Amino acid sequence: MGTRLDLRGRLPQVELLENEPMARHTTFRIGGPARWMFLPRTAGQAGEVLALCHGLGVVPFFLGNGSNLLVSDGGYDGVILSTAKLEGDLAVEEETAIRVDSGVSLSRLAAFAADRGLTGLEFASGIPGSVGGAVRMNAGAYGGEMSQVLEWVDYLDETGTLHRATAADCDFSYRRSIFCKRPWLITGALLRLRRGVEAEIRGEMAELNRRRREKQPLEYPSAGSTFKRPQEYFAAALIEECGLKGLQVGGAQVSEKHSGFVINRGGATCADVLALMDQVRARVLDRTGVVLEPEVEVLK
Ligand SMILES: Cc1cc2nc3c(=O)[nH]c(=O)nc-3n(C[C@H](O)[C@H](O)[C@H](O)COP(=O)(O)OP(=O)(O)OC[C@H]3O[C@@H](n4cnc5c(N)ncnc54)[C@H](O)[C@@H]3O)c2cc1C
Repeated sequence: MGTRLDLRGRLPQVELLENEPMARHTTFRIGGPARWMFLPRTAGQAGEVLALCHGLGVVPFFLGNGSNLLVSDGGYDGVILSTAKLEGDLAVEEETAIRVDSGVSLSRLAAFAADRGLTGLEFASGIPGSVGGAVRMNAGAYGGEMSQVLEWVDYLDETGTLHRATAADCDFSYRRSIFCKRPWLITGALLRLRRGVEAEIRGEMAELNRRRREKQPLEYPSAGSTFKRPQEYFAAALIEECGLKGLQVGGAQVSEKHSGFVINRGGATCADVLALMDQVRARVLDRTGVVLEPEVEVLK
């Protein structure tokens, strides 16, 4: 698709990268070149990118912080729309709500809330995603998830037209939302929090981040949990039970610290990770009868 397209000069006001290595844009540090990558600075510019793509019959792939993504070694022969440079505004509204742009990181958002004594986002402070990616994935941890705090989102549809959806419209479920089914770009959100005590909020965030550091292999690149939590089970426990902790294919390894994570021990390719995931799924199915579904999204 992308090879036939020539996007140079089509939107001179919007930053455009050509053959950009995706390993630079994913927390796995894996992925070949993206043929085209737009980096709009405003929602208006993002709308122009969407309108251009729509006119050309191309569906762009949206990139947040790349923390739930595995990109193929051959790269992506299409158009990426990254929110990394979208205006990063944060503002308190109606005393206990925060209005935030989609490219802002969850850690920055959680710190902003803590500074203002607003509670409800402590769970999010250690999730390495952007607000847009987190709303799309209904990201969550330690009993909290985005659907519990979201009041509304602003999004651009495939033609570049701006809409607002309430939390009820988002059709949230475990790690899913309506944005998994529709090619719509989240540009901003309003999060409804509660008044709390700043020291307690900070204490809770520090404690959750300490638990993460203790349990998760944060010293290696990864995309977090590799598999979704199967009903009534924990993926990590099943993987460990099957003796797969430490299993390695090339540079990819089932973490010895947390079996739910596949890590890049250095020089791992996408092919290594996929081969390792296949082995893990096959052995877990064979030994326990449980089907593991990938949580990490694969972009080919
Ligand atoms: C060390 C580590 C720990 C993690 N811990 C957790 C955890 O505790 N809980 C959890 O839920 N996740 C966790 N994750 C996974 C990941 O951080 C979340 O899924 C996060 O929400 C992904 O956000 P992102 O911005 O990185 O999205 P990306 O990886 O860039 O994209 C993910 C999906 O969202 C789409 N997307 C991105 N931005 C937008 C947008 N603006 N509009 C519409 N669609 C968009 C992409 O197209 C893609 O389909 C962890 C990951 C790592 C590496």
